[in-house]
Amino acid sequence: MTRSTPAACVIGWPVEHSRSPLIHNYWLKACGVPGEYRREAVPPDQFRDFLRSLAARGYVGANLIFPHKEAALAWSEPDDRARAVGAANTLWFDGVLRATNTDVEGFLDNLNACVPDWDANDGTALVLGAGGAARAVVYALLERGMSRIVVINRTPQRAQAIQQWFGSRVSISAWEERDHWLAEARLLVNATKLGMPGQPELVLDVTRLPADAAVADLVYVPLVTPLLRAAMARNLRTADGLGMLLRQAVPQFQLWFRKKPEITKELRSLLEQNLSVPQPRSQE
Ligand code: NAP
Repeated sequence: MTRSTPAACVIGWPVEHSRSPLIHNYWLKACGVPGEYRREAVPPDQFRDFLRSLAARGYVGANLIFPHKEAALAWSEPDDRARAVGAANTLWFDGVLRATNTDVEGFLDNLNACVPDWDANDGTALVLGAGGAARAVVYALLERGMSRIVVINRTPQRAQAIQQWFGSRVSISAWEERDHWLAEARLLVNATKLGMPGQPELVLDVTRLPADAAVADLVYVPLVTPLLRAAMARNLRTADGLGMLLRQAVPQFQLWFRKKPEITKELRSLLEQNLSVPQPRSQE
């Protein structure tokens, strides 16, 4: 690679588990762009210095994963969406270092593709979790006009922070009450880490969901999580985390490499194969 070859990276701590290099390097090849996409393991206390040296390292932009999504807002020029979500997953240079959040469209595009009429009737959306991913989901649902979103999280203070941030269409409930809310949910979203390898299973009585409810899981290892499996067993419509991962990556690639990449069957099956091989224990 020459110095002028455009490169991007995923910055996280840890970062080895990230599947983003597989996606972006596939697209670089498919689009005929002579670029490169790498992993950069950066601890929180070195994040600011790393961003300062991003351009000098030859990067045109970066993907952010845990624990940098919130911190990035202070060291970049966030767009309205990243500001509104309170977290960024994408950085790119445009004279200055800009930040946005493509998890929002990744989540919505995937839900639209998997469950086209998920919002045909208004109703309650139940969001489990209150981390950076849950913030993007709540923002997306509010933008889409959902009139009531109930956020349920193990640590109540984090759910309260989301409610205060997003306002009156968001309400919260205790983690122990999650089964109680299922009967009202038109949409259930798992934005916690539960269900991932090394994490406990998400314990939920899916039989309480209405027959026309949709279920989205952001977790993508395993591809079919216990939650999705239980929802499918009830013939509920589902959206998996891999679909979101692929769709949030499309606008990132466009910002960095100026070409619109395609989510091909080949790419999806490459990732499915990769996900079936045991890997380090965390995800983006
Ligand atoms: P995060 O900020 O670390 O938040 C983790 C969430 O999981 C918190 O709400 C946390 O609750 C909850 N949690 C963790 N362990 C729990 C337990 N034992 N019991 C109950 N709740 C528990 O992480 P994040 O960035 O929001 O990511 C959340 C999930 O979304 C991860 O699985 C991530 O891989 C996935 N994700 C997927 C995509 C995609 O494209 N598919 C994109 C982004 C994120 P507390 O607040 O109580 O700790």
